[in-house]
Amino acid sequence: MSLIVVGSMAFDAIETPFGKSDKIVGGAATYIAWSASNFTRSINQVSVVGGDFPKEELKMLEARGVNMEGVQIKEKEKSFFWSGKYHMDMNTRDTLDTQLNVLANFNPVLPDSYQDCEFLMLGNLVPAVQMAVIDQLKKRPKLVVMDTMNFWMETAMDDLEKVLKKVDVLMINDSEARQLSAQYSLVKAANTIMKMGPKFLVIKKGEHGALLFHEDGVFYAPALPLEDVFDPTGAGDTFAGGFIGHIARTKDISFANMKTGIIVGSALASFCVEKFGTTRLKELKHRELEGRIQQFKELVNFDIELLLNDSNAE
Ligand code: AMP
Repeated sequence: MSLIVVGSMAFDAIETPFGKSDKIVGGAATYIAWSASNFTRSINQVSVVGGDFPKEELKMLEARGVNMEGVQIKEKEKSFFWSGKYHMDMNTRDTLDTQLNVLANFNPVLPDSYQDCEFLMLGNLVPAVQMAVIDQLKKRPKLVVMDTMNFWMETAMDDLEKVLKKVDVLMINDSEARQLSAQYSLVKAANTIMKMGPKFLVIKKGEHGALLFHEDGVFYAPALPLEDVFDPTGAGDTFAGGFIGHIARTKDISFANMKTGIIVGSALASFCVEKFGTTRLKELKHRELEGRIQQFKELVNFDIELLLNDSNAE
């Protein structure tokens, strides 16, 4: 019984108002695996890298219980490369460059040992590749969660719509929800998107937290107000990894447990942004995570006693 994580493993070059990184290791599946491995040691990774991707990075993830059998290494090719520049608010960014390289012709082959999959996390990747993984699974997982981005809405919308029909939970940010639904109101956007396939929708709002929509209601998780945000890259993937890691660990796919998953994801994302790339996730201690979950509890927990006058009483 395991969790499959699908997504890019990549090099990123990041510019923020506070600094600039050279090519550093990133990619959606990299962040997801680091984050989810806080909860489960049974992660099966699906991705592709070039010969330039540091083998040491794969080994570090293996040491965390991440199985790399489904990660293809194309020795003669280059890894996926993404470069982005953050605006002053650190909530918005421009993509400066996307070089698909090995991702351009990626044909995922699911090892037999991956078949016993209970939870499937489709990280940001070519929608056709996400679909190819779903199609290779002989048994439908208990929960399929998907992340995607505007890039795929603009370049592969038909394929994206097909994958959406197959997933249970979709995670996107607010501008992507608006783009996908052609609705400005996030409530209307959520209703439109949930008609496209997913029964649950998570809308991420950066430093303003995340919303979890379901036909039974909506839940809001704040982001922890942080003094310094150094690099938001990977925060969404780290959030996804924390969410699916918690769900895989508890094996509970109820709306109530998804609410907890959203808080866990938010707590992990709050660490990710403290340093460039995956640095902070690599050094994270469990007692630090427990402390931050406590901070989240205190952030949203309050007692209230309403003292009303009588004039409007019925
Ligand atoms: P996030 O900040 O959570 O949205 O994710 C950032 C990560 O997504 C970076 O490490 C990139 O390598 C990766 N990424 C960016 N664009 C794409 C894309 N089009 N397909 C797959 N991964 C991408």
